[in-house]
Amino acid sequence: MPIDPTKPYDDQNIFAKILRGEIPAKTVYEDDHALAFHDIAPQAPHHILVIPKGAYVSWDDFSARASDAEIAGFIRAVGKVAREARFVEPGYRLLANTGVHAGQEVPHLHVHIFAGQPLGPMLA
Ligand code: 5GP
Repeated sequence: MPIDPTKPYDDQNIFAKILRGEIPAKTVYEDDHALAFHDIAPQAPHHILVIPKGAYVSWDDFSARASDAEIAGFIRAVGKVAREARFVEPGYRLLANTGVHAGQEVPHLHVHIFAGQPLGPMLA
């Protein structure tokens, strides 16, 4: 079920549990602002999720409420993960499904990084 963005942050969501270390994840990067780990059901040869450490439901929530330091730190972390994984050439895709129309399933902001093959057009 896609999330209802009008509901408050649910601290029992799966990514909150990963942040608290209550369930495992294949972590590839961590700093003060972000955690990055492999998606459990990859949709590309490389499929990494980057999440902020703060309690934000979605990109919409994060961009409205997060501090400038959190936003800068998170965006830098996304770039660092992509660079360190050598995704920069020949390219990669970032995606942040937001709300019902985008089919967002997990109600904690996550940016997908897809890479490792030509990714095709965004919308069929
Ligand atoms: P969304 O559709 O919300 O943009 O993407 C949610 C993503 O989270 C999906 O790609 C899904 O495979 C991934 N996912 C869901 N549960 C887990 C989990 O427990 N561990 C990891 N690593 N990924 C998960």
